[in-house]
Formats: sequence, structure tokens, C-alpha cells
Amino acid sequence: MIISGKDIAAQLRSDMQQQVDAMFAEYGRTPNLVVIQVGDDPASSIYVRNKMRAAEFCHIRSQYLHLSGEITEKELCAQIEQLNNDDDVDGILVQLPLPAHIDEERIICAIHAEKDVDGFHPDNAASLWLHQPLQTNHIASIYNPVPDYGCTIACTPKGILSLLASTGVELDGKRAVVVGRSPIVGKPMAKLLMDRQCTVTIAHSHTRDLPAVCREADILIAAVGKPKLITADCIKPGAIVIDVGINRLADGSLSGDVDFEACKDIASFISPVPGGVGPMTVTMLMQNTIDCYKRRQMKVN
Ligand code: NDP
Repeated sequence: MIISGKDIAAQLRSDMQQQVDAMFAEYGRTPNLVVIQVGDDPASSIYVRNKMRAAEFCHIRSQYLHLSGEITEKELCAQIEQLNNDDDVDGILVQLPLPAHIDEERIICAIHAEKDVDGFHPDNAASLWLHQPLQTNHIASIYNPVPDYGCTIACTPKGILSLLASTGVELDGKRAVVVGRSPIVGKPMAKLLMDRQCTVTIAHSHTRDLPAVCREADILIAAVGKPKLITADCIKPGAIVIDVGINRLADGSLSGDVDFEACKDIASFISPVPGGVGPMTVTMLMQNTIDCYKRRQMKVN
């Protein structure tokens, strides 16, 4: 069965619209997200446009700051500091990648952790790894895929847990394999699955016999960036397969990391590319903006 991230994202965004309207009725202001783009990378422009559109749909205010690709790191940090100190700003997102002369890690650290809607700030990443969730009796649903960790969780792995919740399959005790160990997808994904009582293996470019490792998975997450790396011989019959990869092919079309046609009849559930993880990532960005707003509002009241 195909897991439609597009449909689930649409459902979640309608729900968020109502959440935001209710927050406006209660507090007299809506969440406010600032999206910063440095330079004119065409792919970044598309991602930024999608994020702004999603915010508008969810009734979240958004501001687009398009800065010159020549901006210095110091100037960018000063701009971020201004937004950190602006009480009317709940979320700050700097679209990556940044031009080579700017240190991305330094910029991620410059955003106040409370306004870091991407969940990339070391304080947020550390909270996820060091702490157990605050709600131990959490029941996962597409609307509420992760328990409260008291911090912002990276959007892509959070969206994937929502996709997994949509299958209705119990995760407790399952074998999960996450292919890819990046700080924004693979690593947080592995921790979240571990907290859902999965036994987790992380595979990477030095993993020997990747197909054999993948075949152990009841839940296989591919987050690599190599078109069709995951072939039919990597899939255990009945596994749930989530494809994070977005690869632009020479003919301009998009491909995931999974050979979808070859794997779809072996898996019990599989997410497509496009229309799988991508829309969920943007949707969770909206949820993170709402959550940052709520946490800040709770401090004020
Ligand atoms: P990174 O490049 O940061 O990480 C890729 C990971 O894949 C690394 O850990 C690398 O291993 C591993 N890898 C590379 N080659 C192999 C191989 N042959 N076998 C096994 N593992 C391998 O990528 P990201 O995590 O940022 O993104 C991964 C993919 O997901 C990309 O296509 C990206 O565009 C997409 N993406 C999609 C999102 C969405 O919303 N749908 C959001 C974020 C990313 P090593 O550590 O050893 O180098």
C-alpha cells in the first residue's frame, strides 16, 4: 500500500488552520515565522516558496527575508540576533545550503534554540538525544506523532513518524534500519525510533553488505541521496519502506533512494517520491512553528 504523504499533509494542515485560528481567538496574535534565504539558489527558492505557501494555508504569518549572496557571516548573525530579540517573531528558519563563505553551523547556533523551528540547534539536538520524552504514555497518531521532548524535533524524522502512525502498525519491538546518518535526518530518526521501542541499526557509506542489513528491517528508512540505491533485494517481505531521498535525474525528473517500482509489491507500505516525505517535512515545520509559539506564549502568561 502506498503511503500518501501528500494526503496526510493536507489533513494535518487543515487541522493546523483551526489550531491557529483558536490561538488567535485566545491570544490576539498568530504565530510568526521568518524565512531567510541567502543568495539565489534555484532549489532553495522552490523550497522557500513551498514553506511560505504552507504557512499561508495554515494561517501562520510569515515574512520572507531575501538577503544578498554577498552578505558576510557577521552581518547575517546580526540580522538573526535582531529577530531573536523581536518578541513578535516565533520561528526563524535559514534555508540551507548557505554560500560557501558562511559557516552553516555557526548560523544554526546563532538562532535562539526557542525559535529554531528546524530543530537543528545543538540544544535541541542534545535534548532529543539526552532526554527521554516527557509523556511516557504518549499514543502516536498522525496529528501527534512524537511525545513531548520539551524541545524542537527536526521536521523530516517527525514527519516520518506521522507517516508510520498512518499505517496503524505497532512499532514496539520492530527491527528498524535507517540508511544515512546525517544530523538532520538519519541520527534523529534513529533516536525517535529507539524511543518507540524499535531495535535500530544505522547504516552508512561504510556499511558492508547493505542489502543484507536492510533485509533485517521491518521498518526501512532510506535517507542517502543516491537514486534507487535501495533495490528489491534490500526489502524484507512485508516491511514498511520510507523513502526520504530527493534526487534530480538528468532528464529533470525526481527519484527517491528506493527503486519504487521494484520494491512496492514486496513492501507492505511504501512512501513515494515525490508526494511522500517531502510534504510532511514542510507540514512539520508548520507544527514546529506553532509549538514554538505555544511555548513562548506559555512563558508570557
Ligand atoms: P547527507 O548527505 O547529509 O547524508 C547522506 C548519508 O547517506 C550519509 O550518512 C552517508 O554516509 C550515507 N550514504 C552515502 N552513500 C551511501 C551508500 N552507498 N550506502 C549507505 N549509505 C550511504 O544527506 P541528508 O541526510 O541531508 O539527505 C539525504 C537525502 O534525503 C537527500 O537526497 C536529501 O535531498 C533528502 N532529504 C529529503 C528531505 C525531505 O523532506 N524529503 C529532507 C532532508 C533531506 P556517511 O555518513 O558515511 O557519509
